[in-house]
Order: sequence, then C-alpha cells, then structure tokens
Amino acid sequence: MLKCIAVMTSGGDSPGMNAAARAVVRTAISENVRVWGINNGYKGMLEDDMCELNSHSVSDLIQRGGTFLGTARSEQFKTTEGRQLGLANLKKHGIDGLVIIGGDGSLRGGALLAQMGMPVVGLPGTIDNDVWGSDYTIGADTAANTIVEAINKLRDTASAHRRIILIEVMGRKSGWLAMMSGIAGGAEYVLVPEVKFDLDEICTEIKASYLTGKRYSIIVVAEGVGSAVDIGKIVAEKTEIDTRVSVLGHIQRGGSPSVEDRMKASMLGERAALALISGTSDVVLGFDLGKVVSINLHDAVNHKKTLDPELIRLARVLA
Ligand code: ADP
Repeated sequence: MLKCIAVMTSGGDSPGMNAAARAVVRTAISENVRVWGINNGYKGMLEDDMCELNSHSVSDLIQRGGTFLGTARSEQFKTTEGRQLGLANLKKHGIDGLVIIGGDGSLRGGALLAQMGMPVVGLPGTIDNDVWGSDYTIGADTAANTIVEAINKLRDTASAHRRIILIEVMGRKSGWLAMMSGIAGGAEYVLVPEVKFDLDEICTEIKASYLTGKRYSIIVVAEGVGSAVDIGKIVAEKTEIDTRVSVLGHIQRGGSPSVEDRMKASMLGERAALALISGTSDVVLGFDLGKVVSINLHDAVNHKKTLDPELIRLARVLA
C-alpha cells in the first residue's frame, strides 16, 4: 500500500482532465492516502511546483474544461538528468506513486519514469483518441461534439448560399476526431491523414451533385492532411462553386465536458488511484467495449493506434 501519491496533467489539455484528477484526489483521500497535485506537467515536476491537495481543492471542477493543475511541455524532461531531477523532487515530498493524465508523449515520459523506479499509472487524456489499447480517451467525445455543433451551423449557411464548406479540425497524425465528427455531422467528405484521397475526383463528384440539385457540400479536413485553406482554393478553382473555409482551432479543446467524458474520466480516475495505491504500476487504464481495461504502459507507447477501417467505410457509404 502506497502512503502518498501525486496526480498531474500533461501535454495538450482536454475536457474531462479535471474530472479525472478530481476522482484521483477524492479516491486517495477516501483510502486515507495523501495526494499531491503537480502543476504544469513535467515542467512543474522539474521546478518543484507541487502542493498537497484535499477534497476541497477539487470542488467546482467536474463541469470545467481545461485542467486546474495546468499543463505544459518540457524539453528538459526528455533528458536523463531532467527526469532524475523530477524524481528527486517527488521523493523529497515522500511521493511514492504517480497518476499521469495525458496523451501519447506524456505517457511515453511516464514509461521512462516507471523504468527509473517510480510507480506510474497513466490515463489517456487527449482529444485525438489515439492511445493504443483503448477505445476511448478523455476529452475526445466533447471535442467531437463541439465540431458537430459547428458543422450544424455551417451547414445552414452553406445551404442558404449553395456553398461548399471545408472545416479544418485537429488531428495531426490521427484522423479519429475528423472521422467521428464527419460521420456524426453528416459530412460529404472526410479527409484524414490515414487515407489517400483524389481531390480531382472529389471536385468532379461535387460538381455533378450540384447539377442534380444539391445545395451544399461539407468537407471535414483533419489538419494532418494539409491546410484546409489551401485545399479550399483548389476546390473553388476546380468546381467553380462558391467555397468557404472554417478553421476551428483551439475552440475544439475547450468547453464543459460531455456526460460521457465526465463519467468515463471519473471511472478512470478512481480506478487509477486504487490501482496505484495497491501497488500496480506500468499500466494505462482505458476502455474497451464499455469496460475499464488495464493496458501495459510500454505496449501502449510502443504501438500506434490505427483508425478503425469500419469508420472509414461507413463515412463513404453515408456520404
Ligand atoms: P501529449 O502528451 O499530449 O502527446 P506531448 O507529446 O507534447 O503531448 O508530450 C508532453 C510532454 O511529455 C513533453 O513536453 C515531454 O516533457 C514529455 N515527453 C514527450 N515525449 C517524450 C519522450 N519520448 N521521452 C520523454 N518525455 C517525453
């Protein structure tokens, strides 16, 4: 049984990180285990920016996006000396286990800390839904809902003017967010980094559809494919149809978490604290088929999650 643990959020923020951290804190306290919060991810760990938390520290948080602990990126942590400094800071406060909530990079950092002897349980916190071994990552559902809301609004105006609208969404390496929101938002095309596409063919199809009466066309573009502004220029030229581009940007990261993100983040936070306290390390907790599952941390960071081919197929059928 561990006596004192810490929780941190790292990398890109995602809605639901607060719910997860809150669950870690409240679970630890209910198990009579002391719990610290590390501010600003690995940067804060190296700067010894951390403090002990109590139940009130996490009041009024479950409905908030962002992360009350702050998050940051740290190049220094990527060096062995940096990680040794971080470890020494944790030990100084008697912290003997760590819950890390973050994306792929943050979990990779956690795997290195675990190899140096610090017990680590990771939680997948990223809007990209790209952590191997888990169906789900904290924040992806809220971000997809934000995008769908934007698509709904853009569709109204696109239809009024018979326009083509391109919407650029986040996802440098992973098209999951674009694919989910494209399907749920009824987009005609979803361009993702994982799938090759033929812009000439798309433009020809759109032109033909306008000739038979179609009033609008929505194209969701994952940022990893390239700039939607540049793609939009080509589309406008080739189709000769009025085309507009909307780059959603950081609006996708913010906002109050959805019920799904609050629930799943809370479940993961509780399970992470209990696992860590009872001596489990080197795991990421995620979801598979609706149930919390434990994934080997080193496997999770050494494998790449691929976009479900079923989603790619479905998007094509429904377009
Ligand atoms: P995310 O966790 O959202 O994928 P990043 O990839 O930016 O975000 O990672 C967040 C932080 O995790 C980095 O600033 C760095 O401190 C740490 N990190 C990322 N990759 C590694 C790595 N390969 N080795 C050690 N630390 C890493």
